[in-house]
Amino acid sequence: MSSSNSLTHLLNPEQKRAVETLNGPLLILAGAGSGKTRVLTHRMANLIAQGMASTDEILCVTFTNKAAKEMEHRIFKILADLSVPVTRELWVNTFHSFCVRLLRQHIDLLDYKKPFTIYDSGDQLALIKRVMTALNINDKMFPPKNLQSRISNAKMLGLTPDALRAGSPLTKMDPKSLDVFTRYEEEMKRANALDFDDLLLKTYELFRMYPSILEFYQNKFRYIMVDEYQDTNHIQYLLVQMLAKSHRNLCVVGDEDQSIYSWRGADISNILDFEKDFPEAVVVKLEENYRSSANIVNAATKLISNNSQRKEKTLFTNNAEGDLIQIREERNEYDEARFVAKTIQSLMSSGENNLNDYAIFYRTNAQSRVLEEQLRTLALPYRLIGGIRFYERAEIKDLLSYLRLSQNLQDDMALKRIINVPARGIGKTTVEHLEQKANESRQSLYSTIHQAILDRSFNAGTTSKLRRFIDLIDDLTAQQSSFKLSEFYAIVLEKTEYVISLKKEDTPEAEARIANLEELDNAIAQFEQERGEEASLSNYLEELTLASDQDQVDGTVNAITMMTLHISKGLEYPFVFIVGCEENLFPAFRGNEESADDLEEERRLAYVGMTRARNKLWMTHTKIRRVWGQEQMNPPSRFLKEIPKEFTQFSSATFASSPSRFAAQNSSRYGSGSSSRSGYDEYAQTSYDDDFSQSDNYVPKSSGYTKDQRVRHPTFGVGKIFSTEGSGDTLKISVLFQDNTIKKFVAKYARLEKV
Ligand code: ATP
Ligand code: MG
Repeated sequence: MSSSNSLTHLLNPEQKRAVETLNGPLLILAGAGSGKTRVLTHRMANLIAQGMASTDEILCVTFTNKAAKEMEHRIFKILADLSVPVTRELWVNTFHSFCVRLLRQHIDLLDYKKPFTIYDSGDQLALIKRVMTALNINDKMFPPKNLQSRISNAKMLGLTPDALRAGSPLTKMDPKSLDVFTRYEEEMKRANALDFDDLLLKTYELFRMYPSILEFYQNKFRYIMVDEYQDTNHIQYLLVQMLAKSHRNLCVVGDEDQSIYSWRGADISNILDFEKDFPEAVVVKLEENYRSSANIVNAATKLISNNSQRKEKTLFTNNAEGDLIQIREERNEYDEARFVAKTIQSLMSSGENNLNDYAIFYRTNAQSRVLEEQLRTLALPYRLIGGIRFYERAEIKDLLSYLRLSQNLQDDMALKRIINVPARGIGKTTVEHLEQKANESRQSLYSTIHQAILDRSFNAGTTSKLRRFIDLIDDLTAQQSSFKLSEFYAIVLEKTEYVISLKKEDTPEAEARIANLEELDNAIAQFEQERGEEASLSNYLEELTLASDQDQVDGTVNAITMMTLHISKGLEYPFVFIVGCEENLFPAFRGNEESADDLEEERRLAYVGMTRARNKLWMTHTKIRRVWGQEQMNPPSRFLKEIPKEFTQFSSATFASSPSRFAAQNSSRYGSGSSSRSGYDEYAQTSYDDDFSQSDNYVPKSSGYTKDQRVRHPTFGVGKIFSTEGSGDTLKISVLFQDNTIKKFVAKYARLEKV
C-alpha cells in the first residue's frame, strides 16, 4: 500500500479530497460529526508524509489545549504507522498558547521583561476593582464585571484607550470607563503582566511593528490550519490573515451552525466570508455524519434549520436509526437530577457500559449542584468540568501566587493575595495604605513595601512584620532558580509555613486543603515527568493559566462527565443528557430582551449539545425550578417543540395519565408516569398552575410543623425540624439532618415525610 493510500483509506471521497488538497486556500465547511477534525489531522500528517513541509513548518490551531494534545497524539500515530520519522516539534496550539510561544521569545521588543506573567480573568477582575478604588469610581454605578467584559471587547477588536478616545466606528466607551481602561493598562504594564486578550493583541502588535519578525514566521509556517474557525474573533482573524498573506496556504475548518462564542467576541462572518477573502479557495463539503444515530442527526438537522443566519447544507448518516430521543418532564430540578442518576444507574447495571460513556450538559454552571447531590446519593462517580476548578481553590491559588511572585516581583495581584496568608499580622489597613502609596507613586507593591521599610512609614511592629515578609519573598526569589520545580515547591511550603498553619487549624476543611496541596505536588511531579528539561517554573505557570475548562476532561478516570453546553463543543459521548430544557433557561437570554441573534446562538448551542451524542440522547425539563432562590415555572424549551415528533419519545413523571398521578414514592419513580410518542401536544396544553400539593406523597401544605418534629427527605434522609418561618404557601422549614447540615425548604414543595 502506498503511503498516501494507508493515510486515506479510512476516509470518504470528499474527506480524501480535502486531505489531498495541499496548496492554496481550502475551506471545509460541514456539519457536526462529519470528520472535520479528523480531516485536519490526516491532512497535517499527509503534508509531512509527502515531504511538503517538516513538522515545525505547519501551524495548526485548535480550540482547546486538550484538542491540541489529542491531535498531536494522532498525528504521531499516523506517521508512525507510515514509518515517517518525526524529527522536529509540532506546532499544534490554541491561539493563546501559540501567542505565548512567540511572546516568550520576543516580548522584550515590546518593552516588557522576560519572563512576563499572565493574568487570568480572576486576576484581571481584582485589578479592575483596585483601579476603580484608586480612581474613586463607584462599583454600583459601574459593576466591575461589566467593565471587565467591555475592556475585553475593546481589546478583542484591537482597540487601545487612545484609539477609543480618538473615536472608533467599532465601539464607544464613556469617559469614566475609559479612565479605568487607561489605568488598567498602565498597571498591567507596571506588573509586567499580560491578560488573555493581550496575548493575541501583543502578538499582533509585534507583527505590525516588526515586519521582519512577521516575515520570519510567514516563511516558517508554510502551511496553516485552523479548526473551529467559526469561533475565531477579530484579532485571531487578523493574525491568521497576516501569517497566510504571502503563500495563502490556509485551510480552515468549521461549521457556522456551531458558532457559540459571539459573547466572547467570536465573529461568525469570518467563516461565512472566507470565500470573499480568498476567492480562489477550494471548498469542500462533508455531508456524512459518522458520529450519531440517524434519529439524532435528523432531529438536530431539523432543529437548526430554524436558523436564518446559515448556509444551507446537507447532513446525513448511514448509521442505524437508533433509539428515539427521550424527552422527559419532571416536577422540579431535584426530580430531574434523580431521573438522570437513576437512568444511568439502571443502564450501568446491565454491565455493558462504562461511566465514561455518559455526559450531562447544562446551560449554566449553577445547575450542577443538584445533579452532583443525586449522583453522590447513588454513589455514581462523576467529574465536573468548569465550575470551581482545582486551580481556582483558595489554597492552590495562594501557593501559585507565591510561585508567581518569586518569578516576577512586580506581580501585584499575587503579592496582595499572600501578603497575610498564612496570617502574619499584616492587617487590612496596612495593605490599603500600601496600595494607596503604590498607586500614587506608580510603583509595584513590592517596591513600595521596601520603600516603606526604609522610610519607617509604619510603626516598629508593622515595619518588622513587613521586613520579615520581604525577607521571605527575597529568599524564595533567590532559591527559585537553583532548584527543580518540585523541590522549590517543597521549599515554598516549608518557608511560608503554609501547611503548618493549616495543621494548627485542625479541622476537616484544613485537612482537605492539605490534601489539595499534596495533589498540587502530584501535578507538579507529573509536569516534570512530561516536560523533562523544560519543566521550568515559568512553563508551568503558563500551562496552568492557559488550561481551558475543557482541558480538565480526563479520560483516565472512570466517571460521568458533567459540563456546560459551551464546553462540550468538539467532544462526543455515547450517552448524553441535556437537562433544563425550559424557556428562559435554555434558551437563556442575556439582558431582558430576546433578540433574534441571541436566539439563533442559543439554538446553535442546542445543536452542538445534541450532536455530541452517539447512541442515545435525553432532554429533560421541569415544571418548577428554583433560580436565585425563587421558584420559577417556565414552559418547556421551544427547541423541544422544534424537534419533529417522529424522532422523540415523551414521558412525564407528573403527567396525569397514570392511575396514581404521583407514583413516585414507591421508590420506583424512574420509569413511572406516562409515556407516549405523541404526548407532546397533549402535554403542551397542560396548565403549569397545577396544584402539586394534591399529591399524597407530599406533605399537604396545610399540615402543621413543629420544632423538633422528625421528618424524612428523599435525598437528605432523616432530620428534625430546626425552625419554621412564614405560613401557608410561603411556609419555609429548616431541617437539621444527621450529618449536621441545615437545609431550608419551601414546605409546599419539599418532599418531607413525617416520621
Ligand atoms: P464536530 O463538528 O463535532 O467538531 P467533526 O466534524 O470535527 O465534529 P470528527 O470529530 O472529526 O467530526 O469525527 C466525528 C466522528 O466520526 C469521530 O469519532 C471520527 O473518528 C468519526 N469519523 C470521521 N470520519 C470517518 C470515516 N470516514 N469513517 C469512519 N469514522 C469516521
Ligand atoms: Mg471537530
